[in-house]
Amino acid sequence: MRYYSTNRQSPIVSFKDATLKGQAPDKGLYFPESIPKMDQEWLKRLSSIRKEELAFHIMYPYVQEDISEEKLYEIIHATIAFEFPLIRLEDDIYVLELFHGPTLAFKDVGARFMSRCLGHFSNDKDTKTTVLVATSGDTGGAVANGFLNVEGVEVIILYPAGKVSRVQELQLTTCGNNITALRVNGSFDDCQQIVKEAFMDQTLRDRLQLTSANSINIARWLPQQLYYFLAMQQWAEKQIAPSIAVPSGNLGNIAAGLLAKKSGLVTNNFIAACNINDTITDFLKTGVHTPKQAVMTVSNAMDVGNPSNLIRIFEMYQQDLGQLIEDLTSSVQTDESTLKTIRSVYQKNNYILDPHGAVGYNALKENLKKGEKGFFLATAHPVKFPEVMEDAIGASIPVPPSIELLYTLSQKVIDIDASYMHFKEWILYRS
Ligand SMILES: *Cc1c(COP(=O)(O)O)cnc(C)c1O
Repeated sequence: MRYYSTNRQSPIVSFKDATLKGQAPDKGLYFPESIPKMDQEWLKRLSSIRKEELAFHIMYPYVQEDISEEKLYEIIHATIAFEFPLIRLEDDIYVLELFHGPTLAFKDVGARFMSRCLGHFSNDKDTKTTVLVATSGDTGGAVANGFLNVEGVEVIILYPAGKVSRVQELQLTTCGNNITALRVNGSFDDCQQIVKEAFMDQTLRDRLQLTSANSINIARWLPQQLYYFLAMQQWAEKQIAPSIAVPSGNLGNIAAGLLAKKSGLVTNNFIAACNINDTITDFLKTGVHTPKQAVMTVSNAMDVGNPSNLIRIFEMYQQDLGQLIEDLTSSVQTDESTLKTIRSVYQKNNYILDPHGAVGYNALKENLKKGEKGFFLATAHPVKFPEVMEDAIGASIPVPPSIELLYTLSQKVIDIDASYMHFKEWILYRS
């Protein structure tokens, strides 16, 4: 498989180069030259296939020129070494729990896959790869954990002082080894600005092999399609193709779901479940993408005003809005309805939704027509949002052992100003 840039002004590259570069030089996103079609007979047998076999079968065509079969098996084994249960909540509504990974967020799968690919590609070189990532919370933890002790790769995470939750900060700062946490005296936008300037700085690029680890990176984006195959493996309503609601921010996850559909997975429509930052709604009406300033909500991982993967979705449908809206709709949820939903689902179903999952639940419920069934994705564990949960259900969530352990580890953090010059000095002259 080769990858082209959605802006079409950059050379076509291999999986390896697309992963090492992150974003294409013309600022487009890398996209596969063709979408592999899965055999329908194979898809019918999904439920009898081991999850590692399944994942290997899906991912192999995307990487085969750069990763051997044996190595890919090894990477996949480490990537999906936890559960992805599909649980029935109501007669027509199921939840796909994606929070059983080490940092309790769905981003674990993409981060683990990408880190192992990068480690593999860095093996045959003397130079280290440096992953730079700005985080408002969840991404940093998944990336830190996924890259911990991966040889040949160092990770530098920038996060805004005082603006991530306690658990999130512990996940960033207790790894040590090849993971460095920089606490920036500023906002998330300041962190992102520093990362952007670093990528444009030729001095830095000459000295370091830099790459990014957000869903722009093909190696983080592609493995997300596995969720949908893993869900269908467990889907018991064989006569009904499910509608699927995906809590959405940068639209990486739902773009991967649509990719799975294009590969032959039989589903009903997809619903982009958004909080009030729903730029996708206007886009689906007009075909024109108008970025907005993001507004803070209780489902903060989805507070994105300029979703980067929208371009991949449109590319997949060859810029045909009519075709796209046959497969994709959107739904917008206010914080008020999200909190109300957490409360009512807790009372009615004795099930604790996190704020992102609650947006997904509502979006699905509103969009299911008579006779239809579906599932929504629960993208994070509720324990990561103790303040919101306390508000919504008046109870605190039992803390899993993996989180309790964090409180016993020592933290290591470097404070920097929200200034690119300060960052550059640090990165070039650190010992
Ligand atoms: C990142 C994230 C999302 C949004 O996923 P996108 O791929 O950016 O659309 C939703 N929920 C949680 C908990 C997240 O961390």
